[in-house]
Amino acid sequence: MRILVVEDEEAIARVLRFNFEREGYQVDLAADGPTALELYESAQPPVDLVVLDLMLPLMSGYEICRTLRRLDTEIPVLAMTARTLSEDKIQAFDCGVDQYMTKPFSLPELLSRVRNLLDRRRRSLERRSVRPTNDVVRFCDVIADFGRFEIRHKDEVHTMTTREQELLRYFLENDGVVLSRARLQSDVWKDSADISSRSVDNFVMRLRRMIEADPSSPRHLLSIRGTGYRFVREPVADASDSASSSTEE
Ligand code: CA
Repeated sequence: MRILVVEDEEAIARVLRFNFEREGYQVDLAADGPTALELYESAQPPVDLVVLDLMLPLMSGYEICRTLRRLDTEIPVLAMTARTLSEDKIQAFDCGVDQYMTKPFSLPELLSRVRNLLDRRRRSLERRSVRPTNDVVRFCDVIADFGRFEIRHKDEVHTMTTREQELLRYFLENDGVVLSRARLQSDVWKDSADISSRSVDNFVMRLRRMIEADPSSPRHLLSIRGTGYRFVREPVADASDSASSSTEE
């Protein structure tokens, strides 16, 4: 399981990393919100738990948590803070924090809460991966396994991030529809400030590498000049390759 620690006090970050790694978890450290969100979005395999200090430079922990919740409603978030006022706790829970600990914290208690949140996370991922109908989608020779965050294409297995997965789901739900970059930004990224139309293109390029036989000449994820993209789940074979379409394409 993978933990993202967002903490600007280096000494505390080091203690957390050391102890989490000793428990066998994979650990990523970020000292501020923008770095944390970038790590979160690019992590492969995806992050399973965020341990979040609330008092941070650049972006408050509250704001980070709200953004995380827009990216993934289920990712467990454990907040840590030196503030003990009940209003601070309420604000944290309003932002979607699952658990709250005040500093200085007891390490055994922290580890036990982390174990608990990760157990729940594991069970929820397992539940998702045994739901076969919606969570495994097949088209042509691509198998998208949303429970496992995997795409299997021919002999290759690719791991998807949460966002790549959401984007692919969105394309699948809008089979054949021309989708502008603005619409993708608003529907998939919920207009969060950290997404530019350029990064939409980067996400599409990554999906192409996972699902297209030839990413430079895509058959599923088509570019629509000046607008955006159109996903085609079952491309009609054109005359030139119709002979081999049933087996090769
Ligand atoms: Ca701090």
